[in-house]
Amino acid sequence: MPELPEVETTRRFLVPALEGRTITAVSIRRLRMVRRQARPGDFADRVIGCRIEQIDRHGKFLLAKLSTDVTWVTHLGMSGSVRLAVAGDPEDPHTNVVIRLDDATECRMVDPRTFGFVAAFLPDEMAAGSLAGLGPDALDDLPTTAVLRARMEGRAVPIKPLLLDQAFLAGLGNIYADEVLFRSGIAPSRRAGSLERDEVKRLRGAIRPILEAGLRHGGTSLDDLAYLLPDGRAGDYLSRLMVYGREDRPCRRCGTPIRRAVLRQRSTFWCPECQA
Ligand SMILES: [Zn+2]
Repeated sequence: MPELPEVETTRRFLVPALEGRTITAVSIRRLRMVRRQARPGDFADRVIGCRIEQIDRHGKFLLAKLSTDVTWVTHLGMSGSVRLAVAGDPEDPHTNVVIRLDDATECRMVDPRTFGFVAAFLPDEMAAGSLAGLGPDALDDLPTTAVLRARMEGRAVPIKPLLLDQAFLAGLGNIYADEVLFRSGIAPSRRAGSLERDEVKRLRGAIRPILEAGLRHGGTSLDDLAYLLPDGRAGDYLSRLMVYGREDRPCRRCGTPIRRAVLRQRSTFWCPECQA
């Protein structure tokens, strides 16, 4: 389940390979991958012949600005990743979208579960779609402690699902939210509105270091290897995780067994000793 560090790692690979290039061909092998488009043919129609001007990211969305007013949007969903290859190279299984550039580079989207998607949106579609409801980016646009606390005030929702709410903060998913809460010493089930000012400050202070550590290690490739870097290597942040995926194993800080519970349908890992 690629989150901000995996998507940002992917973006940094794509920038030198794609920016300034022109899209010459598109192949959609699974129509489901363009389901956000009003007509399936819109994607190819809108991107072929366009130059890729700039590749940005907001939360978990990759946003490629094209030479027209179209934005090519990519979301990796639960199991998606992007591979860079040259036309003619063997394809990985589950290669569902292939975008060919004028230098024969291919940007391939691999997504076994097809929860990801690509779309080519016009400005009015960008303004009306799910992107418009995204909160500030957790890495590039992290709100101040005061702003975060004001947005948590009076809220009964546990802090963990609030951190996953992309309208609250864009980019955190299940892995990094658990790691952020461990680093800040806050139990995932705490009501958001109950956090004191110094706790919100610790929480805010944990977000960037955790995301940057994930980035330094190329993101987190789980055992299923669904997420890989665009050059096919695995991200190795998995071995650095403090709580996620470590049920019953000793806390790296205090030795207490890490606990797991399902909170709002998501697996949640925490140390009952280090997090209050
Ligand atoms: Zn502990």
